[in-house]
Amino acid sequence: MTQQLGAGANRPGWDDDPAVPAWTGHGPLIGAATADACVIGLGGSGLAAIEDLAHRGLSVIGLDAGRVAAAAAGRNGGFLSPGGAMSLSSTDSPVSLELRSELYRQTMAEQQRLADRLGPDVVRPTGALELAGLPGDPVDAAEADAITEQLASLRAEQEALASIGVKVEAYDGVLGQGFFTPDTALMNPVRRAFGLATTLPAGTTLHEHSPVTGVRAGLVTTAQGSVCAGVIIVAIDGKLELLLPQLAPVVQTMRLQMIATRPIAPGRLPCGVGYRAGYEWAQQDPAGRLLIGGGRDHFLEAETTFADDPTPQVQQWIDSAGARVAGEPVTVTHRWAASVGYTTDLRALCIPVDEGVVACGGYSGSGNLVGPIAARAAVALAIDNTPPPGYLRSSLQS
Ligand SMILES: Cc1cc2nc3c(=O)[nH]c(=O)nc-3n(C[C@H](O)[C@H](O)[C@H](O)COP(=O)(O)OP(=O)(O)OC[C@H]3O[C@@H](n4cnc5c(N)ncnc54)[C@H](O)[C@@H]3O)c2cc1C
Repeated sequence: MTQQLGAGANRPGWDDDPAVPAWTGHGPLIGAATADACVIGLGGSGLAAIEDLAHRGLSVIGLDAGRVAAAAAGRNGGFLSPGGAMSLSSTDSPVSLELRSELYRQTMAEQQRLADRLGPDVVRPTGALELAGLPGDPVDAAEADAITEQLASLRAEQEALASIGVKVEAYDGVLGQGFFTPDTALMNPVRRAFGLATTLPAGTTLHEHSPVTGVRAGLVTTAQGSVCAGVIIVAIDGKLELLLPQLAPVVQTMRLQMIATRPIAPGRLPCGVGYRAGYEWAQQDPAGRLLIGGGRDHFLEAETTFADDPTPQVQQWIDSAGARVAGEPVTVTHRWAASVGYTTDLRALCIPVDEGVVACGGYSGSGNLVGPIAARAAVALAIDNTPPPGYLRSSLQS
């Protein structure tokens, strides 16, 4: 399937960054090791957990099945999505508006922390637009009706954001109609992960290419070794339920897909833009390339899968969305996909699964900021028994 898609298939556009070939990496875990804590998953969330544990004075071993940010953390749209997957205007969320507002504030603080830590080469303070539909005339009556519905939802969300003091303004311009949040930023996901992984405090050891095959209280088993640790944090978004099948009732792995193109008209997208209620998302990077993903809602059944390679159907959809967003035909250079975990009620997970073992994940497509927050909550739960905040799901029962 991947081969049919040609050159660049399943290689993220972010991997053109010079940091990727320059990455020297970490060897696999071989043999038995001991540490105060072990973190499984070296994406943005796992790296945040490792940093937190090390700051608490614990020795930490971090493990990943592949490279640092091999999965969604290095293959995503680069939106620093405030509030995660839960909207403020939702009327059927199990989480109170007060708690969703608190999560929004925490995610904005996380964005600031990343910006301070990694600087403007990684975190770009562009603002973000949320727009109804895709640019250009609706292709049929169904699309026109959907745009009307999305506009109503965007107005409700804009009001909800304003009501909790978020800077937000209505937008009606060349890119479409919706709202603009000037304080939202974009990032380069690979630079973020490598930036965090290379500046971890002393006392941390990372092992790449070390797939974990078993987790129980006090012991992590990998293909070629094991880690004995009193605290174990599982920080995996997509495919979490493969390692921890007991979480299958509350999280489901889905695939998300993207493309990158040759440079389009300079300045076409001055900021990150979400289209169609967030089902498409796009940014133009400093080199002028368009990085755009989406289409999942049109292929829901096929995208409910553990497979993580791009498919012709979804890629064709994204190609046509890309041309509408660019306002011109686009030349695709990269096509890729990755797995993420969706939860039944859009709450991210922070769930104890054994004595001293806590799992986090299930960010429903928006984990760049919520992931580190859930990971630190997992650390606090594992070490101090601190109950996770109510905007996270902390048990299978409720
Ligand atoms: C195409 C796409 C676009 C997206 N766009 C955005 C966006 O713009 N904004 C946003 O906020 N979110 C976005 N997301 C979601 C976001 O990328 C994820 O929620 C986030 O990166 C999750 O990070 P993580 O560190 O929790 O998990 P992951 O990135 O899933 O990292 C987990 C790590 O665990 C490793 N692992 C898995 N199983 C094992 C095992 N058995 N043993 C050892 N290691 C294992 C994996 O190799 C991986 O490196 C997008 C996702 C995709 C796929």
